Amino acid sequence: MKEEEKNKQTGSLNFLEQVITKDLEQGNTKGRVHTRFPPEPNGYLHIGHAKSICLNFGLANKYNGKCNLRFDDTNPTKESIEYVNSIKEDIRWLGFDWEDREYYASDYFDKLYEMARYLIKKGKAYVCEMTGEEIAAGRGTPSTPGKISPWRDRPVEESLDLFDRMKKGEFPDGSKVLRAKIYMASPNMHMRDPVMYRIMHARHHRTQDKWCIYPMYDWAHGQSDYLENITHSICTLEFEVHRPLYDWFLDNLDVKVNRPRQFEFARLNLNYTVMSKRKLLELVEGDYVSGWNDPRMPTISGLRRRGYTPASIRVFSEKVGVAKRENVIDMALLEHCVREDLNKNSERLMAVLDPVKLVIDNYPDDKTEILEGIRNPERPEQGHRNIPFSKTLYIERKDFMEDPPKKFFRLAPGREVRLKYAYIVKCENVVKDSAGNVTEIHCTYDPETRSGNSTKKVKGTLHWVSAGHAVEAEVRLYDRLFDVEDPTDLPEGGDFKDNLNPDSLQIIKGLVEPSVKDAKQGERYQFERTGYFCIDPDSKPGKLVFNRTVSLRDSWAKMHKK
Ligand code: ATP
Ligand code: MG
Repeated sequence: MKEEEKNKQTGSLNFLEQVITKDLEQGNTKGRVHTRFPPEPNGYLHIGHAKSICLNFGLANKYNGKCNLRFDDTNPTKESIEYVNSIKEDIRWLGFDWEDREYYASDYFDKLYEMARYLIKKGKAYVCEMTGEEIAAGRGTPSTPGKISPWRDRPVEESLDLFDRMKKGEFPDGSKVLRAKIYMASPNMHMRDPVMYRIMHARHHRTQDKWCIYPMYDWAHGQSDYLENITHSICTLEFEVHRPLYDWFLDNLDVKVNRPRQFEFARLNLNYTVMSKRKLLELVEGDYVSGWNDPRMPTISGLRRRGYTPASIRVFSEKVGVAKRENVIDMALLEHCVREDLNKNSERLMAVLDPVKLVIDNYPDDKTEILEGIRNPERPEQGHRNIPFSKTLYIERKDFMEDPPKKFFRLAPGREVRLKYAYIVKCENVVKDSAGNVTEIHCTYDPETRSGNSTKKVKGTLHWVSAGHAVEAEVRLYDRLFDVEDPTDLPEGGDFKDNLNPDSLQIIKGLVEPSVKDAKQGERYQFERTGYFCIDPDSKPGKLVFNRTVSLRDSWAKMHKK
């Protein structure tokens, strides 16, 4: 390959793709690419995890490799089967397949236990009887050494015996731990004799009551990668400082071949939301949202319910790229991705969300015309839908003004607009209630101006529904969950929940075209001139419920320019 061409190619590769390409060229991994996505089943997955899923499965797909799903289930008190199942559902929905490689760190508990004994026998680990608080207090600071445990040099036999008895359940929680024997003066705090095992008399969702000692994440994680023959172990930047520890474990376990190598990338941060599972759990448990899959949540299940498509999330994940430095991505990019996808792939529909009656005085009382609307202008092959038209219609209240400014091209007394797919109408007069609100707009129409048959042009085109035919629907208008860019940027003692957007959900009754009457859960539509909507799982025969996925344009951009 010419040098120039090669540069061009590497230029478009992200740094992980460059590493893998080089490894394959140099035979470093014997031609293998094996990644994994390692969630802890302690909550539902969020859009940040989606980034990691697309990256790990994406790299495996691109380089003819494999990607494992591994649950890092080392903390039984926080984990559950519900979370395991939701994680699997979300990954499948995103379009990825782990085939038969569904693994659990808990599958390796026996092996990890034996590996720990190996380290004890080598004098590289010891049972320490300091309490958690004593260990934390004795850690020191990066510039001052930590306190050496009085049990650090106890005989190997004693540690082996105590470790065995810890496993048998002879000791209460917190009374002992197994620690790696590394260096209490290391400038890297993770190397200061880190805890490998703690005693926890807790039932595990998979191993039940078999264990009462559980491995720490740092001990389990790297060894799990090794046991699964992972070649490229990809994680987020905060684990960079853990890498020397992972290497120390493998070195001291005398692992010479097939060592996984770790690479770190910047986690995805999005503005106007929070992504830590702890905070998301707080929102769920405090009933600030309706559940993990509340359409305002940044969870994959929430985005799914909101109407996001798997493809839009995959495209988003591609667009944000793989960075080596922390950054914050604008929520508008995610919204842009779903808009683009839905514009191409959703059927059009007319829906009036804040109806006001429009009566065409010169239209026959009992006449109904069936007009043709385009299903999707991006996909003409999908053909037409039928839309009934009659004398009494509803239009959007904001599409009429009694005393409009000059640039208002919608309906006003004496002005003409086109009713989409139908006729040009002219406003003749209005009826008001005692409070002065317009209750009926009276118009006349020109039968010669039927859409398709007439070339007459007017400035405004309005959407509408026929009063006698439209179907009522509950419409849930979702907005951003937080109304500040960084909800966690707080004054002393502040709570991120104080930044919740009080207007993030508005429930209204709207009127939609009858063609949607039997629409099924998950179906997505563009309400013409309004936004993208999908059918919520709460919908049932006789009660349509729509969620707004996203408005047609970025309304936040406008607001913040003010
Ligand atoms: P959180 O910090 O949001 O609570 P976590 O890191 O504890 O999440 P895990 O279940 O451990 O969640 O994450 C599984 C994988 O997803 C890890 O490899 C982690 O690095 C990755 N991941 C988690 N959050 C993000 C994010 N915001 N961007 C990219 N990858 C992420
Ligand atoms: Mg984690």
